[in-house]
Amino acid sequence: MSRKHIGVIYTGGTVGMAMTPQGYAPMPDFAAVLSRLLGSHGELLPRHTLHAYDDPIDSTNATPLDWQRIGRDIAARYHDHDGFVVLHGTDTMAYTASALSFMLQGLRKPVIVTGSQIPLGAPRSDAAQNVITALQLAASEAISEVAICFAGRLLRGNRATKVSASRMEAFDTPNYPHLAEIGIEPRLNASALLPKPERENFQLPDYAEALVLPLRFVPGLPLRAVEAMLALKPQAVILECYGSGNAPDRDPALLQMLARASAEGTVLVARSQCLHGEVHIGTYAAGAGMTAAGVVGARDMSYEAVFAKLQHLFALGMTAGEVRRELVRDVCGEVS
Ligand code: ASP
Repeated sequence: MSRKHIGVIYTGGTVGMAMTPQGYAPMPDFAAVLSRLLGSHGELLPRHTLHAYDDPIDSTNATPLDWQRIGRDIAARYHDHDGFVVLHGTDTMAYTASALSFMLQGLRKPVIVTGSQIPLGAPRSDAAQNVITALQLAASEAISEVAICFAGRLLRGNRATKVSASRMEAFDTPNYPHLAEIGIEPRLNASALLPKPERENFQLPDYAEALVLPLRFVPGLPLRAVEAMLALKPQAVILECYGSGNAPDRDPALLQMLARASAEGTVLVARSQCLHGEVHIGTYAAGAGMTAAGVVGARDMSYEAVFAKLQHLFALGMTAGEVRRELVRDVCGEVS
């Protein structure tokens, strides 16, 4: 079998940073450092071509336009490579991985997103391990989806969330099994992987940065804050509810406000503040009124997947009614 050829897209993040007097910032010679590392393993690793962005960013600055750029870069090089590795900051990695999964529907090759908690050149860095493992997995014919490879785990990208700022195990998929555990050998969890589709069905619309706002309920949240947010006429609001999708209903004004916004075309989505579990609006009397107010439950989707999917559906030009319907339809393994 010929040696696989992987496209490595470097977008920024801690993986390519070095310490400066102002704190971590992108190192100027990352491409050279990376190619020395990968080159030192010779033919033991898949061949790769590095596509390094000349303006690498800290992923805290990423916007949907950055997702669009990465998605389009993969699509443009799709036939040149057997798989892709995207090097990305960890802070918003789960958002980017989710968005890539919606853009690159019907993917027949691996797109493995990775980064590190400690920069490549720093002592005890996890970067080499993550990048080399990602490169190997990107050559696997068994994987045909967007996944995050981090700290010996392969995770579905649109199920992932950053769970730790300090542990090497920065990511997890609380509502989905790991796609692989990587010990001495990678052990793929075949029943959890997406089956290889017949053909690609990429959707690469212009991401116009729809106004999708988060509203996290906290005890005693002043309703005037909700009112101010809804006055912006957002295209969607993700309601970060309690437990199985509960929101305070002692003051009927909240539900009245939500119902009005929904009738005027704002898509309201209920997500749970819990990491694990599924939203069931109406399990409790407090919250039952949300269905009547037009709120859609996000089922077991991650917060990042909900946000990215809303941006994607609006970018496709869907109406509020279409977005409400499509949001909970499984596209690429993001919802059970
Ligand atoms: N702030 C960094 C980023 O997201 C953190 C990281 O890469 O781990 O780009």
